[in-house]
Amino acid sequence: MQIQVTTRETAAAHGVSLRTAQRWAATGRLNATKVAGRWIVTLTAVTSLNDFKPAQIEKARELIEQGGIVRFRGRRIFRTVSSDGTRTYLTAPQACNCAAGLRGRHVCFHRIAATILAAA
Ligand SMILES: [Zn+2]
Repeated sequence: MQIQVTTRETAAAHGVSLRTAQRWAATGRLNATKVAGRWIVTLTAVTSLNDFKPAQIEKARELIEQGGIVRFRGRRIFRTVSSDGTRTYLTAPQACNCAAGLRGRHVCFHRIAATILAAA
């Protein structure tokens, strides 16, 4: 599956400015195409996103937009904030230590957000 993200999300993923992400898109460093005046960045090899529901992916994108997930260590470990803002979790694409993540029955949207950021 391919997933498409904005240059804003790409900038958040890499910890660079929006303008830098736009320059990467323009110079071909990102797999990006311009659609109606906006860069759309296509991520590939994110096969694990196949099983995610669109509503979960939407929650994950909101988390990214709101800055509720930040890179913690290396490229694939993130710190995420709970919806009510009172707790933080450690999240990787493969695992999360929130309640839903520890139950392990479903992939929580923190992990989806981590998957998107790790691939960006
Ligand atoms: Zn989680």
